[in-house]
Amino acid sequence: MGKEFNISPVNVPPVATKYRHIATALPHPDSLSTLERLRTLEPTSMRGMPPIVWERAEDIFVYDKYGNRWLDWSSGVLVTNAGHGVAEVRQAIIDQVNSGLLHNYVFPSEERAELVGLLASLAPAELNKVFLLTTGSEATECAIKLSRAHGIKVGGRGKIGIVGFERGFHGRTMGSQQAGGMAGQKNWIVNEDPAIINVPFPDGYWQQDVSFDCFLDSLAKQGMKPSDIAGVIMETYQGVGPDFAPVEYVAELAAWCRQHQIVLTFDEVQAGFGRTGKFWAFEHYGVTPDIICCGKGISSSLPLSAVLGKSEIMDQFGPGSMTSTHTGNPVCCAAATAAINKLLRDHLTENAAELEPVLLFGLEKIKAKHPLVVGHVSAKGLVAGMQTVKPGTSEPDHDLAHRIIELCYQRGLLLFAPVGAWGQTVKISPPLSIPQEALEEGLEVLAAATDQAIAEAAGVSATQLSLA
Ligand code: PMP
Repeated sequence: MGKEFNISPVNVPPVATKYRHIATALPHPDSLSTLERLRTLEPTSMRGMPPIVWERAEDIFVYDKYGNRWLDWSSGVLVTNAGHGVAEVRQAIIDQVNSGLLHNYVFPSEERAELVGLLASLAPAELNKVFLLTTGSEATECAIKLSRAHGIKVGGRGKIGIVGFERGFHGRTMGSQQAGGMAGQKNWIVNEDPAIINVPFPDGYWQQDVSFDCFLDSLAKQGMKPSDIAGVIMETYQGVGPDFAPVEYVAELAAWCRQHQIVLTFDEVQAGFGRTGKFWAFEHYGVTPDIICCGKGISSSLPLSAVLGKSEIMDQFGPGSMTSTHTGNPVCCAAATAAINKLLRDHLTENAAELEPVLLFGLEKIKAKHPLVVGHVSAKGLVAGMQTVKPGTSEPDHDLAHRIIELCYQRGLLLFAPVGAWGQTVKISPPLSIPQEALEEGLEVLAAATDQAIAEAAGVSATQLSLA
C-alpha cells in the first residue's frame, strides 16, 4: 500500500523562478479544510497525491489559489499532452456546450463522426473501426471481450485465453486487473479466471531474458497452447519504466499471433498521442496490432477513451449489443478533436522526440551520482522514470521515491505519487508543450531533491553528500 503525503503545513524556502513560484507554507493552511473534507468523505485510496488543492492548470503549470505555481511533470496522469486547459480545447468545449448538445448516447452526432474520422486517419489503414468509450479500463475490458469473442469464433469455446504481462497495468476493473500483472493488486479477486495468465515482460531489467522463447516457455509451463489463446494484451511500454520490449521480440510476437489467429492488443492508454516521440508508441516497434486501446492524452482534458481495430474483430456484435452510456459524449468528442489537432499543429510529438535526450541525460547524471540507490532510469520522448532501490541492492525503495517527490513538490515541481509494482518509480510526464529550458530547470530540482532525500536517509546533510 502506498503512503500518504504529510498534510501538516511545512514552512518551505520561497521559490521564484520563471517556471516555479512557492510563497507560502505547504500545504497552505487555508486549504486544510478542503483536504480534510476530502479525507473524511473519500476512500483512503484517494489520498495518494501531494496535497495541493488545484485551483487551475494552464499549459505546463498548476496553480493553487494562494499564489503558488508548480511546474507540472504529471500532466494529471499523462492526460494533458497538449497542455493543461489550452485555449483551443476550452473554446471547443464552450462552443459545444453553447450548441445545446451535451449528451446523445449512441444516437448519431457530427461530433462523434468527426472524432472517429480523425482517429481512423491517424491509425494504420487496417484499423478502420473506432469505438469511443469513457475510461482506459473500459477500453481494455472491451479489447478482452473482443479478443475472446474472436477466439471463440475462429477456434471454438476453448480458445478463450488472454495473455498479459507481469507488472503490466490495464486498469482496476475485474478483467483489466486480471490481465494486468501487478500481483499484489489482484488479491481481492481470489478466484481468478484460469484462462487469463501473465508471462514475463522482457524489460531487460527485472526480466533479464528478453528472448521470445521466454514467452513460449512461460506459456508451456502454464499449460497454455496457442489453440487455447484468444488474445495477447501488452502495454506498448510498461508504465513503471517506461520499459519497452525489444523490437525483435515484438516482431516475433506479432508474427506468432498472426500464425495462430490470436488478437494482439497494444494498450496505448498512456503511451499514445505523442507521449513517446511518436504519435502511437507502437510505431517504435514497426508492427501493427489488431487492436489499439487508448485514452488519457486523447482529449488533454475530459474523460474519453477509444478502441481502434480491424473490422472483422470490431464488428462481431450486432446493433445495440456493444455500447456504453457515454459512448462518445459530444463535449468530450469536441475536446478531443481540438486537443489532437493542437498536438498535430504545434508538432508536440516532435517536441517530445527532440527533448528525449535532454531528459535522459539529466536522469543519467543523477544515476551516475547515486549509483547505489538509483537502480534504473529510462526515458522515451517525454515520459521517463527513475527507479529507487535500497543501497547496493535491487530491492525497490518506495520510501525514497516518495520523499523525492515530496521534496520536489515543496520546491515547485509537481509529480504524481511513485508508481510501479513496488511504488519505486519517480515518474516524469510533463505536457508535451514543455520548452527545453523548463525541462532543464525541472531536472535541476529533481537532482537537488534526490540529493537531499538520499542524504536524509543516510543521516547526513545534502552538502556533505555533495562534497563526498
Ligand atoms: N491502461 C494503461 C496502460 C494505463 O496506464 C491506465 C491508467 N493508468 C489504464 C489502462 C486504465 O485507465 P483508466 O484509469 O482510465 O481506467
